[in-house]
Amino acid sequence: MVGYQTTDAADCAERIRASNRVVALTGAGVSTAAGLPDFRGPNGLYVTRRYDPETVFDIDAFRRNPVPFYDFTRDFLGSVHTLQPTLTHRFLADLEGRGKLTAVVTQNIDSLHQKAGSRNVVAIHGDYWTSHCLYCHAEFNLEYLARAVVEEEVPHCPCSGLIKPDVVFFGEPVCSFDRASAVVAESDYLLVLGSSLNVYPAALLPDLAGGDVLVVNQGEVGLPPLPHRSLVDADLDEFFGEVSGLYKPTCS
Ligand SMILES: [Zn+2]
Repeated sequence: MVGYQTTDAADCAERIRASNRVVALTGAGVSTAAGLPDFRGPNGLYVTRRYDPETVFDIDAFRRNPVPFYDFTRDFLGSVHTLQPTLTHRFLADLEGRGKLTAVVTQNIDSLHQKAGSRNVVAIHGDYWTSHCLYCHAEFNLEYLARAVVEEEVPHCPCSGLIKPDVVFFGEPVCSFDRASAVVAESDYLLVLGSSLNVYPAALLPDLAGGDVLVVNQGEVGLPPLPHRSLVDADLDEFFGEVSGLYKPTCS
């Protein structure tokens, strides 16, 4: 029977040491560890404030009436503002700084990877890090947007065009998927973190991996076992706390 490869923190540390093109694919579990409730979970914004994601993130609904989206955004950015990146976010940023990790591909829209210092972040569902005017295409950063949503019901550009954060809405193409596919294909060690891999298109990415794949998640994962795949059912920060203690960079 084909099963997952066995692994542990020491093996992970050793593989990272031997790799030059580590890529991380991260999902909601990385952010819930930072204290951000899963949108759809019992304490998530969709439930506690009764936001309907089908309406909030629908591009046609947004163009007709952006108020529900901006009500959500005001709440969401208010929660994200108080969060700090976790040990796992910081560990990935540190690996990039050492030239070990080439990219973080994330399903999350909260920009916590950028906040931790990651530079090459491919946000496949987009995120709030940048926004654009739908009319003149002027760009605005997260700091500007966070201020604007507090000051106005709906933020507008100085040209009076509607501002839309670069979050991918239903009905919009997932533009960065080609970039995500390319970095995953070039990886020599893919870390799939805090994702059940049940959401497309992210679920397609591990099949493109150029090398071994390690999945760390609490709970079920929708990835068939193969000899070059290993799976750890663990708390991310506990696991990477152990890995970072064991990981000794090579002298160069
Ligand atoms: Zn404009």
